Amino acid sequence: MSVILRVEGERWRAHLRALALRTPGLVPVAKGNGYGFGLGMLARRVQWLADQVRPAGADARLGDTLAVGTYDEVSAVAPRCAADLLVLTPWRPFVTPPDGVDPRRLIHTLGRLPDVSALAERHPGARVVLERATSMRRHGFDAAGLRHAARQLRQSKLRLEGVAFHLPLTAGAHLSEVHRLMTDVVAAELTDTTIWVSHLSPDELAALRTTYADFTVRPRIGTDLWLGDRGALRPQATVLDVHPIDRGELFGYRGRAAPRAGHLVVVSGGTAHGIGLEAPTGELSLKSRAATLARGGLDAAGLVRSPFLIDGKQRLFAEPPHMQASMLFLPLGSRVPQVGDRIDVRVRFTTTTFDRVELD
Ligand SMILES: *Cc1c(COP(=O)(O)O)cnc(C)c1O
Repeated sequence: MSVILRVEGERWRAHLRALALRTPGLVPVAKGNGYGFGLGMLARRVQWLADQVRPAGADARLGDTLAVGTYDEVSAVAPRCAADLLVLTPWRPFVTPPDGVDPRRLIHTLGRLPDVSALAERHPGARVVLERATSMRRHGFDAAGLRHAARQLRQSKLRLEGVAFHLPLTAGAHLSEVHRLMTDVVAAELTDTTIWVSHLSPDELAALRTTYADFTVRPRIGTDLWLGDRGALRPQATVLDVHPIDRGELFGYRGRAAPRAGHLVVVSGGTAHGIGLEAPTGELSLKSRAATLARGGLDAAGLVRSPFLIDGKQRLFAEPPHMQASMLFLPLGSRVPQVGDRIDVRVRFTTTTFDRVELD
């Protein structure tokens, strides 16, 4: 049964367009579960951005490049847009090249010296970005490695498309690190090229452009683009069944007894959608635990909070979520929803598998 992502289409598109127009050089990122929308839908949106009638003076590059996380994701986006495809995970000799995609559209990321020569040997003419490691310490060359890589590259048949920095999420606190990294780029004689960056604020991007006017700066953005206007997005589940239950009556996979009289509400959405157990509602300190027990609250009965909302309140799981459905416990006195009602779900978009995206 379905968990649906309802999208207020006009509002969402207005946000995408506005962010794209105020972010010169924007490179949309589509990876993983496609931020909840799916990779195919995001690729079509990138084409839509490219097709926009632009105000005078707007960035001509809009929608010209799409970044994906892995080589396995390339085939999901390639047929749905005309953009060049930057693969964020650094190339390794063991990656399987995507099938049926014009290799001239691919921009590879390189982060280790042996990979520079290996890629040059296998794919002469390939387009590459050299990644400089940041304080993230995930991938990339150190300062000396970048100088070696740049030298190797100049003697190879690879085509340099720039240098990449993947910065941590600490918004607005990157400038000193970026200056150090740019010093390494200049020392590697990688001048007059493109700097592909993540997680810089608009002010930091502007400062970078002013200080390093010989470089082209291209911000890679996923979350703030696709999920930047949460109000346009509404994850929903459906009420599938409602059963009255008495205190002490047994239910569920584990034959547990209802802690009180009320209703079992069966809703769509379970572990297959990425819906998991949340933290217990009660605080964990002994004192607050004792207070909860004294009140005889439902959390004292071991019930935990679910991400499903009924009448604006996050309801308790009657038992852990099933694969495609969840059983909630609604105490007596609450309004009982009808079978077929849509209810809101509070989920993380990047970890939820929606069955369907509904554009309103
Ligand atoms: C995921 C990713 C991004 C985009 O990150 P958001 O926080 O979703 O904007 C940019 N660069 C790299 C290398 C990434 O892996």
